[in-house]
Amino acid sequence: MSTAFISDLHLSAKAPEISLRFQEYLSNELAGVERLYILGDLFEYWIGDDAAAMLGMQPVLDALKQLTNSGIQGHLIVGNRDFLIGEQFAKKTGFTILEDETVINLGNEKVLLLHGDSLCTDDHLHQQFRQQMMCNKAFHQHALSLSIEERIATAEKMRGMSAEHKSEISDEIMDVNTDAVVSVLEKHDVTRMIHGHTHRPAVHSHDTKNGVAERIVLGDWYTQSSFLSHDENGFNLSNLKT
Ligand code: MN
Repeated sequence: MSTAFISDLHLSAKAPEISLRFQEYLSNELAGVERLYILGDLFEYWIGDDAAAMLGMQPVLDALKQLTNSGIQGHLIVGNRDFLIGEQFAKKTGFTILEDETVINLGNEKVLLLHGDSLCTDDHLHQQFRQQMMCNKAFHQHALSLSIEERIATAEKMRGMSAEHKSEISDEIMDVNTDAVVSVLEKHDVTRMIHGHTHRPAVHSHDTKNGVAERIVLGDWYTQSSFLSHDENGFNLSNLKT
């Protein structure tokens, strides 16, 4: 039995080729998989579960439902692009929504899962966005009370601002802060973590008070299919270029 992890697919109607690769992944790569964890930014943006069809994403929900119907457990942590994923999504897909920073058991080991943007503490503008919008239930309520057209306009505007912000800051600022990594590993008493968000697939080592810890970073799906699997032989991170 194995466990699979993906993140940062950034699915949208504007990039049908990514949805196609995702469908292929679901049909070809999940044989013998017991649990699938999606660690955030499944969607390019998500403006509420009621707008799934309007964004052309109903087929994705149907595919996820088919997956859980087939007996695979599905779990999802929201990302900074799709933090408005809610209960209707869970009901329609059979996925459970997990808190950011969830510790799971993998074999005999405890492993910390998170989207990863909380680790980018040098990016002050992003941390402000995280506090004021992503992690603010009152903001969610306000956002969901707008018309779908207004929400799409806001999401497009924010996407533009995010692209502009990224073009203005350095690679170091956009990456995780090592102190933040060590601090969250020690907080949860784990020596392994898996996250996405930075779009820099790799395996890193960090010294912690509990010994050397491993940090596995999933890649995005813009130009590759990036996925991690775990079985009795250990972890395997794949990045299939298109
Ligand atoms: Mn992200």
